[in-house]
Amino acid sequence: MSSSAAYRDTSWASDIDHVLLSEEEIQEKVAELAARLREDYAGRQLLLVGVLKGAAVFLSDLMRHLSMPLCIDFVQLRSYGHATISSGQVEIVKDLEWSVEGWDVVVVEDIVDTGRTQDYLLRQLHMRGAGSVRICALLSKPSRRKVDVTIDYLGFDVPNVFVVGYGLDFAERYRNLPFVAVLRPEAYKTP
Ligand code: 5GP
Repeated sequence: MSSSAAYRDTSWASDIDHVLLSEEEIQEKVAELAARLREDYAGRQLLLVGVLKGAAVFLSDLMRHLSMPLCIDFVQLRSYGHATISSGQVEIVKDLEWSVEGWDVVVVEDIVDTGRTQDYLLRQLHMRGAGSVRICALLSKPSRRKVDVTIDYLGFDVPNVFVVGYGLDFAERYRNLPFVAVLRPEAYKTP
């Protein structure tokens, strides 16, 4: 189903103000990022670390383009709760199962906003002895950055708007939309 068809069919259509990135644009970018990863990590010991829950969709699509042997693990960090502004605090909700020691780690993230989550995670991974650590993020909001982080593999820069879809939620909803969209203000008021 194309993005526009999904948009028409979903009962959430009325919540959406506009589609920022279509399903087609996202899938094309995911394939491009995967091609770069395939080249850069050929013959290396690659561990993809997905940041739950937002990166679940991105990681699933990305890894299916990666034909070389690799492992995956997930970490869940909290910095937002059910609000659209960051608290500035980062804590581990679910830790990695894997020891990262000696692994070439690529952190797979949905969006880098202030940069605090990635800054915290990168420090943790280096402290735990990862061989190398790079960030692969689908989205970045450069105008919101508080901590300088290098995104080695970036999908798209987005403006300072709160986005949902393709893994990203508002109050746990909208993660399953195949595109990235901006909600109407009224949608923030529904339970
Ligand atoms: P940071 O630590 O970079 O400020 O925040 C990163 C996290 O904030 C992301 O993983 C994501 O969960 C959340 N976040 C930041 N901006 C947005 C947004 O526009 N939409 C949604 N749904 N989450 C966001």
